[in-house]
Amino acid sequence: MALIVQKFGGSSVADAEGIKRVARRVVETQAAGNRVVVVVSAMGDSTDELLDLAEQVSSSSNPREMDMLLSAGERISMALLAMAIHESGSSAQSFTGSQAGMITDAIHGKARIIAVSPHRIKASIDKGDIAIVAGFQGMSQDSNDITTLGRGGSDTTAVALAAALKADVCEIYTDVDGVYTADPRVVPAARKISTISSEEMLEMAASGAKILHLRCVEYARRFGVPLHVRSSFSQLEGTWVLPNPDDTIKIQEGEPLEQPIISGVAHDRSEAKVTVVGVPDIPGKAAEIFGIVAGAHSNIDMIVQNVSTHGSGRTDISFTLPIVEGADARAALKTAQAAVGYESVEYDEQIGKLSLIGAGMRSNPGVSYKFFKALSDAGVNIDMISTSEIRISVVTSADLLDTAVRAVHAAFDLDGEAVATVYAGTGR
Ligand code: ADP
Ligand code: ASP
Ligand code: MG
Repeated sequence: MALIVQKFGGSSVADAEGIKRVARRVVETQAAGNRVVVVVSAMGDSTDELLDLAEQVSSSSNPREMDMLLSAGERISMALLAMAIHESGSSAQSFTGSQAGMITDAIHGKARIIAVSPHRIKASIDKGDIAIVAGFQGMSQDSNDITTLGRGGSDTTAVALAAALKADVCEIYTDVDGVYTADPRVVPAARKISTISSEEMLEMAASGAKILHLRCVEYARRFGVPLHVRSSFSQLEGTWVLPNPDDTIKIQEGEPLEQPIISGVAHDRSEAKVTVVGVPDIPGKAAEIFGIVAGAHSNIDMIVQNVSTHGSGRTDISFTLPIVEGADARAALKTAQAAVGYESVEYDEQIGKLSLIGAGMRSNPGVSYKFFKALSDAGVNIDMISTSEIRISVVTSADLLDTAVRAVHAAFDLDGEAVATVYAGTGR
């Protein structure tokens, strides 16, 4: 008897009809002879709606209360799903993150999992029930307060439970048929990928492809959990994310013998660019600046230091960070302006990041040329560049991002014949 963890995202449980549809699917999986644990996200865009509400009552959100508020979204969907399953005559029990044994640190809004003790989940499935767990939440082991894992974190709840329960597979059900060569909402000609290595999936997720939460991919790789990303609106086979690098060379009949050079294009609109202008060009200043930003708990992504203007003795340092962390970083820099001795700070949220990802880049010359040529032909100006062994990323202006993504996707012959299906969701 296999043990399957099935995670359903917000668009799959957006309304009563969706919840009933998911209930049928879960019951069918159990009826086919499996033990089933289900992880649910909040209905539709309800997490965003809760955030909007919080903003209306308070200008500075209290992290503890914010987690209390946001964790309520998943409680609603888990209880409704249990009720819908009861309606079909099957038995199910829902559990909050803390009841399911998701123990985290105390960092509200981006808590990390410390331990998973799913005794109650195990007992529930052992007696033949379907266990339903609220995604995205846990309980701090220090304060016993409710925490959340960060936006999109239900994927990570599902993988953490799959690892702790030694599940055979973790299925991530969403509103598209799998992982595509680009976001199908931006590139309708994107192609579904049948298998992808966790290395490439990590780069895609880290570069903004929100189909999977980055930490879920890391966790799955670390614990060897096979991930199957697929649609809850169709019965089609989705994308397998293979945790073991050796698995990628299991060639299926009819598939090309070599992996494609490029696996996909990802984009990200969630970052802002900070430029610290006129920094004294002497040793130690970069360390001072990034020390200040780290003190404000900001996660830096790309960094560029310009060559100092001849003879000026000053230079500019630019970096990107999540928009949500921008205000704190700017405030911290402002406080330290005199001590660091820089001239001013510029801040721009109207930027977008585009990344080209492919393990085959390592051994294929000419990828960068083709990439920059495609952007130039599309009239896209580049603001910043960064690379890893299997990725090239650039920052462009936000309004040209979609054009840039489509141009690069086409230049690398990733466009497919058919139009990718997006079944639901608002893309928010
Ligand atoms: P869920 O609510 O099920 O967690 P998300 O909205 O978090 O769903 O993730 C699914 C969405 O991810 C898709 O609707 C799609 O717009 C977006 N997406 C971004 N990049 C990709 C990609 N490479 N392949 C598929 N979907 C992608
Ligand atoms: N509901 C949470 C969010 O919208 C968690 C999730 O959907 O994974 O971010
Ligand atoms: Mg998601």
